Amino acid sequence: MATYHSTRSRTAQLSAKEAIRRGIAPDGGLYVSDELGQSKIDLEGLANKDYFELAREVLGTLLPDYTADEIAACVDEAYGSTFASDEVTPVVDLKGVAGEADQGSAPAYVMELWHGPTSAFKDVALQMLPRLMARTSANAEGAADKIMIVTATSGDTGKAALAGFADAPGCGITVFYPEGKVSRVQELQMSTQEGANVSVCAVRGNFDDAQSAVKCIFADRGLADRLAAAGVQLSSANSINVGRLVPQVVYYFAAYAQLLRAGKIQPGDAVEFCVPTGNFGDILAGYYAQRLGLPVAKLIVASDKNNVLFDFLTTGTYDRQRPFYTTTSPSMDILISSNLERMLYYLADGDCELVAGLMTQLAQGSYNVPAELLAKIQAVFGCGWADEDQVAAAIKDCWDRNGYLIDPHTACGYHVLGQVPAASDAKARVVLSTASPYKFPRAVAGSLGLFCPPDDFACMKVLEKATGTVAPAQLSELQQKPVLHDAVVDIDGMGGFVEQAAAKL
Ligand SMILES: *Cc1c(COP(=O)(O)O)cnc(C)c1O
Repeated sequence: MATYHSTRSRTAQLSAKEAIRRGIAPDGGLYVSDELGQSKIDLEGLANKDYFELAREVLGTLLPDYTADEIAACVDEAYGSTFASDEVTPVVDLKGVAGEADQGSAPAYVMELWHGPTSAFKDVALQMLPRLMARTSANAEGAADKIMIVTATSGDTGKAALAGFADAPGCGITVFYPEGKVSRVQELQMSTQEGANVSVCAVRGNFDDAQSAVKCIFADRGLADRLAAAGVQLSSANSINVGRLVPQVVYYFAAYAQLLRAGKIQPGDAVEFCVPTGNFGDILAGYYAQRLGLPVAKLIVASDKNNVLFDFLTTGTYDRQRPFYTTTSPSMDILISSNLERMLYYLADGDCELVAGLMTQLAQGSYNVPAELLAKIQAVFGCGWADEDQVAAAIKDCWDRNGYLIDPHTACGYHVLGQVPAASDAKARVVLSTASPYKFPRAVAGSLGLFCPPDDFACMKVLEKATGTVAPAQLSELQQKPVLHDAVVDIDGMGGFVEQAAAKL
């Protein structure tokens, strides 16, 4: 069942399994299927479906070449015992949000996506991807039988990918992160990772530098040939992999089902989702859910001070030539939002030539979409952003108003929800909470006006004491774990590091 092809051309058609195994298309495009939305998810009886059932339905629809048994096994392995909540992604009530736009609008909720093993939302996808990957096989003659996952991370992807792929059969994983630009907790999460197939390395540069270098590594034919001779093929665990995108579609349905069960909405009611966004993966999954039939009123893109998406969605010009800000929400500090390419593909009605042209222009600095396309995009996506003071104020406001602690990424969503008026048909507004506040204890405690000791773990204690909440054990226990990875390389040393890591497989 060859249903996937690149956003930039239709010449090569792949099955979902092949698309997941490869990660990114050879022409630099992302894999998409023109069948998206042709079969819908049955909304009848949605209220009675649990996360596992929804996951089987959504994955089965979007990845048609996996058998029902394979999908069921992947879902059980990924979520059966790894998430500290029966709902997997529980929805909680808010009393309100700050800001004008809240007056008289639909009630607000938070969906907590961070109950997985690394306390960030990326676990939802990265507990699934290795299981999906394990059920692909090298069927082409002479194809490599081992996969080396190579990933650049702005903080959370790295640990979630490591946790998902550590000791996964037939796979190795190499993670690069920008030196000094992730939180202490994030760095320790990665540098203490166990597993025989695991390599972690800091890079002198920022996330975009590291991500661009990883793209070059994937495009390096010489390196690919040398690795192939050793039986190793490179692949990606970044959110461009369809195997990461598809699991995220599930929780939009799960949120809707929970709201139905709690009597907060009626079948057919439209719901708005406000999503803290960097690479556009999480919010794109919401668009996929809408295409699969979920009644979505509007998808609101919430950015931090790196507001390139806000500018694009309001003007139609995407310009990556701008200052890069290091903020308290590092996982959203992104200038090149990769998954936007898939959104452009779908809203331009599958015009590969247009997408390829825009991406060529982006490589040179900026592009502009036609007014007609911009109007279509704006009909689906709203947007807003928060600067650093607004993020801190949002954390404080949410605590004071709701007695509910949020991390700086979630705080961008909370702030933006208060700024953007609710769609007229929205019956509920859901902010996606993408990380536990304890992943960023310094920023959170500081926002509450608490004294922050120099050490992040002492900071966690301060936060626990002041709020009566408890840090996830997997975070508070990190400081007792031995550091296993301490390599640092320059950008141009990353290819060599991957080759060494592959040699150990
Ligand atoms: C990755 C991440 C985001 C951004 O998600 P995208 O899919 O890249 O838009 C937001 N918050 C946290 C905590 C993250 O780890």
